[in-house]
Parts: sequence; C-alpha cells; structure tokens
Amino acid sequence: MAIARGYAATDASKPLTPFTFERREPRDDDVVIDIKYCGVCHSDIHQARNEWGNSTFPMVPGHEIVGIISAVGSKVTKFKVGDRAGVGCFVDSCTTCATRDLDLEHYLPGLVGTYNSVEADGKTPTQGGYSDHIVVKEGYVLSIPENLPLDAAAPLLCAGITLYSPLRHWKAAPGKKVAIVGMGGLGHMGVKLAHAMGAEVTVLSQSLSKKEDGLKLGADHYYATNDPETFQALAGSFDLIICTVAAEVDWNAYLNLLKVDGDLVLVGIPENPVPVHAFSLVPARRSISGSMIGSIKETQEMLDFCSEHGIVSEIETIEMGQINQAYERVVKSDVRYRFVIDMASL
Ligand code: NAP
Ligand code: ZN
Repeated sequence: MAIARGYAATDASKPLTPFTFERREPRDDDVVIDIKYCGVCHSDIHQARNEWGNSTFPMVPGHEIVGIISAVGSKVTKFKVGDRAGVGCFVDSCTTCATRDLDLEHYLPGLVGTYNSVEADGKTPTQGGYSDHIVVKEGYVLSIPENLPLDAAAPLLCAGITLYSPLRHWKAAPGKKVAIVGMGGLGHMGVKLAHAMGAEVTVLSQSLSKKEDGLKLGADHYYATNDPETFQALAGSFDLIICTVAAEVDWNAYLNLLKVDGDLVLVGIPENPVPVHAFSLVPARRSISGSMIGSIKETQEMLDFCSEHGIVSEIETIEMGQINQAYERVVKSDVRYRFVIDMASL
C-alpha cells in the first residue's frame, strides 16, 4: 500500500478538506500515474454534496485526470514510465459478458466509477483525481497526445467525451444543424467539437453574456433562452439538440425547436423527472434520449480527434486549496469554462 494525499468530502454538507488514504500497490496490469492536473466537473459537486442520493464518504472526487506514468506492472504493454496518461470517469468494467466487444462498457453493469464507487471486489472504495497519484488497470488509461497541453486536455476526459459521443452517434456533420444548450464545461466543448465535425452550431444560453466567446469557439449562432422570441424564431430548426443543463427547463419548448425526426439528447442530469407532452414528439416523429460519457475506445478516438483539430478546453487553473470557492463559482455558472486543479499546489 502507498499513502496518497488528496482532498476529500467527508460529509455532504461540509467543505472539502485535506485527506490521506491508501492506494493499492500496482498489480501486473496496473500503471501508477503521478497526477499533474484534474478538472472540476459539475458531477463532482453533485456527488460531493450527495445531490444524486448515492454518495459514500469520505470521497475524493475528480474524474478528469492527467499526469505522467511513474511505474508499470510487469504485464503492462501499452504504457511505459514517463508517458502522458489520462483517466476519465471509470477505472474498471465487466469483462466477462458477451457484449464486451461492443465498446459499450460504460452502459453495462459492473462499471467501476473512478470515485464514489467500489472496485470489482465489491468492497474497496475508489478515490478520484483530487490527489497526488492513482493506480489504474492499463486498459482504462488513455494516451494524451503530445501536442495537447496537459492542463487544458484534462477536461477532455469527461466534458470532451460526454459531448463527442452523442455528436458522433447522432451524426453531427456538414449539413446538420446542432444546438448546444448551456455554455458551461460540457457545453463549450460541444461547441468546439460540433464545429470541428462540420455541423452548423447554435448555442442556446440563458443570456447573451457569453455570446462573444461562443462565436469565437466555433458557434455560428447564439441565442438567449430568457428571451421568449428565441423559441418562436427557432421553431422546427434543429436536427440535434444536446442539453447540458442540470436544472429544470421547459422541455416541450426545446422539443419544439427540432425538425421532423430531430433528437433532443440529455447529458445534463436534472434531479427531477423530465415532463414531456406527447404532442411535442408525435406530430414530428421527434425523439428524446440520453447519453453518458463514452467507451474507452471512443475516448481515445476523441483525444486523437482533438489532437488532429487542436482542440482543448478553455480553463482557469486553480490551486487545490481553492476548490471550495471553485465549487461555489461553478454552481453560479461563473467559470470560463472549466476549473483545472494544478496538483503541484497540493
Ligand atoms: P456547468 O459547467 O455548471 O455547466 C452547466 C451550464 O448549464 C451552465 O454553464 C449554464 O449555461 C447552464 N445552466 C445552469 N443553470 C441553469 C438554469 N437554471 N437554467 C438553464 N440553464 C442553466 O456544468 P457541467 O460540468 O458542464 O455539467 C453539466 C451537467 O452535466 C451536470 O448535471 C453534470 O452532472 C452532467 N454531466 C453528465 C455527464 C454524462 O455523461 N451525461 C458527464 C459529465 C457531466 P449558460 O450560462 O450558458 O446558460
Ligand atoms: Zn464529469
């Protein structure tokens, strides 16, 4: 066992505080990553505050992890000491079921989350990336392309793949009109990725306060959803709408912005049920769906796509000790556009 240093939530109502804990010694197929940066996802906040009702404490959050490999097990073939490595939202999955070759492991039972989860033994808690190092099976570790800066690449491991996967699945491409709802951590990655895929991109944000940024990042159009005119002007416009918002919104109003056969895909996870009127779907054969992160194979494909197109996240780097203020700012939508913790400050 090695001692790791990090920051943990010890209770849903308390701020994160310094915390030491044990990481396992690397097994044959494990790598040890010296963590350099970790992104701050809104899901970290939902879980540290038990907003999804499934939290266990103490919890070291963080699933946008990048660093340098410092040790490898004897059977590791993909990585060597010194390589640039990333870890996203899961660190193990079912490897025995018949569907394992579908690259859908993130949707199957047996998924082991990077934190707030237990290992395959059913009892050892997993702890995330707000820490100095992590030990992970090599099959769940990503290669960070050389041309991407490590700090700004960290958010690709969750925010990046969470938008890349539905954009690919619902075929964002030239000729397709795609709307991204919410210009936050996930949303701004959606703008960059959809633009790079060649789609015509519209941002639907609560106000026009981030319009200039949105257009710079690749949006073709930018509308405020606090203006009722927006919903009239854009009725029947989009092939695909990806909603990154975790709050209650008027779902029927968004569905009405879809063309015939259009899809509304939820990636943000509101606490309450999503009420939808059949008339928002039936007369235009519209669908409403959800999407969660992506497989390891697709995450590597996304990183390589970002390397080719020079895409990283817009970040504000913070010290570990600033995490509680950073959480408050994320909740107030006051982040441009992702906080990344510099782990040297730990
Ligand atoms: P974020 O940075 O806080 O962005 C959310 C954006 O939603 C805000 O920037 C804001 O954009 C908009 N918003 C906030 N409050 C709103 C309200 N009351 N009404 C309408 N819009 C509002 O959060 P994030 O890290 O991108 O995560 C977003 C959600 O996705 C969270 O629920 C998170 O748990 C979830 N998530 C899901 C997955 C997945 O696999 N499906 C992965 C990661 C995260 P504007 O200011 O532009 O309006
Ligand atoms: Zn996340």
